[in-house]
Order: sequence, then structure tokens, then C-alpha cells
Amino acid sequence: MSAVAPEAVRENQLREGAFGNATALVCRECGHQVALGPHYACPECFGPLEVAYAYPSITREEIEAGPRNIWRYQALLPVPTDIEQSPNTEPGFTRLLEAKNLAAELGLAKLWVKDDSTNPTNSFKDRVVACALSAARELGARVFACPSTGNLANAVAAAGARAGIKTVVFIPSNLEQPKQVNSAVFTSNLVAVDGNYDDVNKLASEIAGEEEGWAFVNVNVRPFYAEGSKTLGYEIAEQLGWRLPDQIVIPVASGSQLTKVHKAFQELIKLGLVEDKPYKVFGAQANGCSPVSASYKAGVDAIRPVKPDTIAKSLAIGNPADGIYVLDIANSTGGAVEDVTDDEIREGIVLLARTEGIFTETAGGTTTAVLKKLVETGQLDPEAETVIINTGHGLKTLDAVSGSVGPAATIAPTYSAFAATGLA
Ligand SMILES: *Cc1c(COP(=O)(O)O)cnc(C)c1O
Ligand SMILES: [Zn+2]
Repeated sequence: MSAVAPEAVRENQLREGAFGNATALVCRECGHQVALGPHYACPECFGPLEVAYAYPSITREEIEAGPRNIWRYQALLPVPTDIEQSPNTEPGFTRLLEAKNLAAELGLAKLWVKDDSTNPTNSFKDRVVACALSAARELGARVFACPSTGNLANAVAAAGARAGIKTVVFIPSNLEQPKQVNSAVFTSNLVAVDGNYDDVNKLASEIAGEEEGWAFVNVNVRPFYAEGSKTLGYEIAEQLGWRLPDQIVIPVASGSQLTKVHKAFQELIKLGLVEDKPYKVFGAQANGCSPVSASYKAGVDAIRPVKPDTIAKSLAIGNPADGIYVLDIANSTGGAVEDVTDDEIREGIVLLARTEGIFTETAGGTTTAVLKKLVETGQLDPEAETVIINTGHGLKTLDAVSGSVGPAATIAPTYSAFAATGLA
């Protein structure tokens, strides 16, 4: 299942330690192992491949002494020990804010926002792209590429520019203008495709099969890419003082992030870096693209693909690759998957902004609105410590709220005109 041709990707010439403590790629379905390389599907059963490790013994102090970015967790990622020497966007170690006002508004005892909108290109995608870039480099790829709903393209284009590797990014042509510009500033190779994300994704797989030496971050190096999301889980635990929260709400597009945050928590327990305790994982989707939440509510363990129709474009994946694993994690931890309407998403954006001073994009509006709905429907325990992840920045999806917020008044520059507004 190698989509990158062997001429370009010199698997047997990999340098020692190219993937750190990673040992192999293992099939999530049947456990079959393949060598570390540009593979993403099991040759036996076509199940998704995942990175396996010879876990090192590592202490909290060793991690704390590392750089203030995701490379402090190098030992738990498929990247070399000298990763800091390779140009990258150095994402991560974003702030974890206690959200007292939002907690009070919703009647929650303790709430935190993990604010990933402050990453280099203003979304959590910088994390996954940093790991994919390392894999692409170690595998000798010539082109760094992706199909994207927007944020991924921004992150790939920026990281590629800094690393000096050719980038080509593919997006649906109806994508928000700010997300198009945020890619086009970094690369002259932005390709807008007339179709939805699932069409763009299909095209990318085809190109990966035809062209030599292309690393598509979320296609043929997806197992390496996906590991980057674990750093969200590590950071949340470390920033809570090496503890796990009781409940966490995570937006779901492909479902990779949610799956990997759970993997990170499990690894921290296994390594003795946090105390073992139960926690509940909740997934957040937009009503207009809710294949995972529909299956959760129907109590089935398969996903039926949908045609997305929502303002939450960064979550608009109709056929989510990791959907079934999200269902499994929500069910096994006692969490849930919930969805909200586009109006609720807009309200969620404004709610987070007015209570906490955080301007989130539609994905974060979805997460905030789902948090509110989970509380109101009694699915989330208001007394338990809760974390929500803000995955992206509102300046990239201005159109979502530009119709619902604006000047309270437009006045002449006189005191009497101001007094007449009643704002004094
Ligand atoms: C990509 C993305 C997600 C979802 O990520 P998955 O791992 O595909 O589920 C959430 N929020 C934002 C802002 C994103 O760009
Ligand atoms: Zn398999």
C-alpha cells in the first residue's frame, strides 16, 4: 500500500532513529505490523495503521525541562531526537485557561479552555503537520501536500515554507476567503477544487498513487500526522499539574484528534505520569454534518456517510475515517457525541467571546454549543472538572458571525448623540 514510490522514499536508507521510539505501524483492526514508512492501510485487511512504540521510561521533570512546544514530548512521538534542529513552525504549549465566567453562565463547577487558536497558523493543525513534516523529511519526500477543509492547508503551506520544501495544497473551492488567503500567502500552489472535502480527499489519494515522492500529510503519512494530536492530551494533563480532567469535549471532523487525545491520556497512565482515573470523552459535531453523532444516538457502531451542509466547514467531513473509533471511545468512557445547529454554533462563538474573551472559529462555536447542550440535557456532570478544546481562530470564519454582531449604534461625533444611545 505504498503510495510514495520507493525511488523517492528510501525506506531501507532511513537514518538511525528517524522515527524516535516508534517501532512499527500496526493495524488497528487486525494487529498486523508493517515497517515504518509511507503506509496508511493494512496490507491484510485495509484497516488503518497506527504508530507503535517501544515506550521509554520518562519522568515529568525530563518533560518539563524540554522546549516550550510539542517537541518536549519528542520521546512519545514518531520524530527523531534532533527534531529541534529541523525548521518547523514549533507549535504547541498553548494556554489552558480557566473559564470561570463561562462556567458560571452554564452552571459548571470547574471549566477549562485549551486554546489552540494561538498556534502559529491559528489552529491545532500545526501540531499534526509538524509531525507529518518530520516524517516527510525522513522519508525523502519531494512535495509536501494535503487535501484540506482550510486549516490544514494553512498549516502545511506555512510549515513547508519554513522548511524549504515544495508545498501543494488542495481545498474545496467554496472555502471561506480568509482560509484561502491564509494558505495563498505561504504557497503559490493553492489548488481550489470544485467539489466538497470528500471529493478533494479522493483526488488527493489518486494523485498520491500517480506521482512519486509526494507526502500527503493526511493520506500516505497519516499515521505520523495523527500522532501530533496526542500533544493536546499531554499538554492538558501537564498544565493541570499532571492530572487528567473528569470530562473533555472535543470537536469531531475525521475523528482523529479525539481518538489521539484519548490515546495520549492512556499513554500517560501507562507511563505512570498521571494517576489512573476514569474520564469521559465527548464529541462535538455540527448538525449539518453529524454522521458520528447520528450513529451514537442510533446506538449503532457503523458510520453512514453524509453530504455536509454546515457553516462549520472545518468539521465538514461526511465520511470520517476515525468515526467508528470515536463512537467506541465515547461509549466506553461513558461520554457521548452530540450535535448542534448552525444558529447554535453562531451563538456558541459569541458566548465564548463574551464570557472569556476568546474568539473561536465555527469549530469552537460547535464545541461551546455542544458543551451547553450536554449540560442542559444532563449528559455532562456539572460538578465534574471539564475541559473543552478551542481548535481554531474566529478571524478565519468572520462571515459566520458578521451578520449577528456589529455596532450597537452609528452616531455623529457629539456627546449628545452618544448620550442618546443609552450606552453611558
Ligand atoms: C481539522 C479540525 C478539527 C477536527 O479534526 P479531526 O482530527 O479531523 O477530527 C477540529 N477543529 C478545527 C478547527 C480543525 O481545523
Ligand atoms: Zn489489518
